[in-house]
Amino acid sequence: MSLQQTLVLIKPDALQRGVAGHIINRLAHAHLRMVGAKVVKVSEKLAREHYKSLSDKPFFEELIKYIRGRLHGEEHSGVLAIVYQGEDVIAKVREIAGATNPEQAHPKSLRGAYGRVTTKGQIENVIHASSDPQEAEREIKLWFSPYELTHVIFPVKSVSRNGKKDWRLK
Ligand code: UDP
Ligand code: MG
Repeated sequence: MSLQQTLVLIKPDALQRGVAGHIINRLAHAHLRMVGAKVVKVSEKLAREHYKSLSDKPFFEELIKYIRGRLHGEEHSGVLAIVYQGEDVIAKVREIAGATNPEQAHPKSLRGAYGRVTTKGQIENVIHASSDPQEAEREIKLWFSPYELTHVIFPVKSVSRNGKKDWRLK
């Protein structure tokens, strides 16, 4: 067992369908601690950086549109970003989320219950969850500043350009 952090993104399709609360409830039942949360309007740059390991995949451009909310109407063009902390939180959240493709996900998993594959073949799977500790650290540092979290989880620089604390790079 090890104490970990993970990045969860409640994706635009979940916000459009009004199931963000159900998702948060399910994660709360797993006794995870929420250490940061915010709604983010996702820039092109942030989307591409977040999914950079998938940039050679045929679905990459649609994925960027999806995470930016471009497939779910102007009023749903955001994601809810949450950092959770807990024992083995990375695997726990991935288990609760279910398989990437909602059609293959367990019906009681979040993706099985709330996700879908559109007739155009677009996967709408309601939640992102970090895949391993290295990715979790990279993603949390990408989406959050140290002062947006309830406590320090990675080393921070004491000074930064705007006077706010910033992550210390490795
Ligand atoms: N994705 C997709 N088509 C695919 C595989 C993935 O649209 O065939 C999207 C989907 O939204 C998924 C995201 O790309 O959540 C990231 O893919 P990854 O393989 O990392 O799956 P995850 O870690 O989210 O389960
Ligand atoms: Mg992944």
